[in-house]
Amino acid sequence: MDKKLIDNYARLIAVSGGAVQKGQEVHIQASTEIADFAALVAKHCYECGASRVIVEWENEELQKLGYQYADEEKLSSLNEADIGMQNYLNARLPVMIYLESDDPDGLSGVDGGKLSRVLKARKLAIKPYRAQRENRYQWCIAGVPGKAWARKVFPDLKEEEAVEALWTAILKVARAYEGDPVENWKKHEANLKEKKAKLNALNLRKLVYKSSNGTDFEVGLIPGVIFEAGGEYTRGGKTMFEPNIPSEECFTSPMKGEAEGIVYSTKPLSYNGTLIEDFSVRFHKGQAVEVKAKKGQEALESILHIDEGSSYLGECALVPFDSPINQSGILFFNTLYDENAACHLALGRGFETLYPGYDELGDDEVHKRGMNTSTSHVDFMIGSRDLSITGIDKDGKEIPIFVNGNWAI
Ligand code: ZN
Repeated sequence: MDKKLIDNYARLIAVSGGAVQKGQEVHIQASTEIADFAALVAKHCYECGASRVIVEWENEELQKLGYQYADEEKLSSLNEADIGMQNYLNARLPVMIYLESDDPDGLSGVDGGKLSRVLKARKLAIKPYRAQRENRYQWCIAGVPGKAWARKVFPDLKEEEAVEALWTAILKVARAYEGDPVENWKKHEANLKEKKAKLNALNLRKLVYKSSNGTDFEVGLIPGVIFEAGGEYTRGGKTMFEPNIPSEECFTSPMKGEAEGIVYSTKPLSYNGTLIEDFSVRFHKGQAVEVKAKKGQEALESILHIDEGSSYLGECALVPFDSPINQSGILFFNTLYDENAACHLALGRGFETLYPGYDELGDDEVHKRGMNTSTSHVDFMIGSRDLSITGIDKDGKEIPIFVNGNWAI
């Protein structure tokens, strides 16, 4: 891939993604496989004025060995090094940059039960530390082609060609293939914010989804909870950062307990290394009460049983059918990309900060008022070429939001 394009992409991640400011520390998580690219991102962070950039190296083979040999208790708890890291993150609030390059099947062969129990236990152990820094640091997730990932996305190509093809796809959907990506994102950001403002002005109470694939579904919204899109701010901060590159969605968190009907998936869902295909989810009183999948039934059911909130909805996201990711026709086997391809729902945790006055109310109060809580959050795509979404406002008025898969507002 053209060196200049890759350098521009690294600059986009530092400048627009993490929005690194003079004097800030930066923490990058990256696989050893993409060390050169991580170094490029670090260079741009320093050029933005970062006071220190630390890279936390990851390696899938090492991770796998851990799951194979280390016992579950050791893996599930935080040791001194883990706690030191948590304390460091809370004390310094570095900008977090997560570079994703993993093989979607990288953990295949690992005991699935052990894996999900360990992940759940670690999430719980980290939760009190995380709570101290939540919404107080800038962060950005962006993808970088790893060899195995590229082979998975382009199985018919030779490894080198597959990596090149994945670079092209990633740069295109990140708006980093032509022109100045930082400038491209300013325009894109303005478009997203315009849609968000229109949605929020409508005061919607309900969304009704219909598609010829059988989707016939409605979901209640929480009064006052807003739609969010694109760049975000830290609590009380003035620096806008882009948490996801790419990002195409306007999303909100629905009212727990108010979802009825059935939705049909329009893209496979890659979950903990298993591909779940051609599935439907039926809701009653807000809860997913029946799931049917042609492939991956067991994995799909397991999502509902992680905890009390994992069978309720935490997100409704609107993404036009004409989004660049959907246009690419590529299944990336990675949520960052695939969730930005089409309208989706997520089972599990809602986004507490979307609640007005969240800073004063806090998590518990927001949960009481209808925001779902869970340790999990799993997105799945339901956007189709003929999906219609009708909004119902507080006076019962019907407003077309999506017609034939695309924005109607
Ligand atoms: Zn989403």
